[in-house]
Amino acid sequence: VFAASSLSQLSEVWSEISQAAGSAERLGEILAVTPDIKAPEKPLTLPEPARGEVAFVAVRFAYPTRPETRILDDVTFAVKAGERVAIVGPSGSGKSTLFALVQRFYDPQGGVVRFDGVPVAEADPVALRSRIALVPQDVAIFAASVAENIRYGRPGATDEEVAAAARMAHAEEFIARMPEGYASLIGERGVTLSGGQRQRIAIARAILRDAPLLLLDEATSALDAESETLVQEALSRLMAGRTTLVIAHRLATVLDCDRILVMDQGRIVEQGTHASLAAAGGLYARLAELQFKTQATVERAAASTP
Ligand code: ATP
Repeated sequence: VFAASSLSQLSEVWSEISQAAGSAERLGEILAVTPDIKAPEKPLTLPEPARGEVAFVAVRFAYPTRPETRILDDVTFAVKAGERVAIVGPSGSGKSTLFALVQRFYDPQGGVVRFDGVPVAEADPVALRSRIALVPQDVAIFAASVAENIRYGRPGATDEEVAAAARMAHAEEFIARMPEGYASLIGERGVTLSGGQRQRIAIARAILRDAPLLLLDEATSALDAESETLVQEALSRLMAGRTTLVIAHRLATVLDCDRILVMDQGRIVEQGTHASLAAAGGLYARLAELQFKTQATVERAAASTP
């Protein structure tokens, strides 16, 4: 059914479908494209106001297509309202899979995933999704105007709301420089955006969405120094006052987090702050050494390029 090749693309599709969903009929369509996911007959009500709290308790998971390959093994952690938690770990350790389960893209074979205390399998999938904003690593840009691309975060938002979100996301400056401002066509056959600009569009979408839980899959690609600063500032604004779970690739991001979860082969192997984990000399210390050193080198090279 899916042409999407990666989990983040898949999550985007899911996000798109569930944002478009209004009626029971649409819900049926969502469930038709994710046949393993069944909406509960009598969903439990998610508490209001939403806090965006996430809890995993002894979660075991394998993808339905590869049932013999354990991807998450006894994963337990909790993120309290307003907390910022970074997830780091080698490629394939299961970081994105955590995001998929929070959004109930799949059901685990063991354990439970809760959102604001309610098992996600007991909640209405549309209500659950409306409380989550996902900023994916590969931002999807549609062949439409800049305004429409941002409005995708909350269909029905007014032009003023779109502009306010763009301003907060540091996207206003580059949009103002486009030939037709917010009406400019981007995406296929339109203006091509830089990596940093795409990211700021995604941040503007998430600001507009105004969900209590933010799932952020930080881009790995290096940005030029100016873009880096603008994106980092925009992210800080987006995270303010929200519960945030971030797959982190940048030192600035982990330093900004209350706690870091270190994943390896589907398990949480370490937890702590950057300082405590760096001092512990375990997997995090090795990853940080490798990744942040490489990043600093790339950034210096980018900064010195005329
Ligand atoms: P990266 O940093 O490279 O994005 P990750 O830590 O986010 O990696 P996941 O994307 O969660 O890791 O993947 C964990 C494992 O699950 C990998 O072995 C991957 O091949 C596998 N996997 C991911 N998505 C699927 C899927 N839709 N179907 C089957 N296996 C999958």
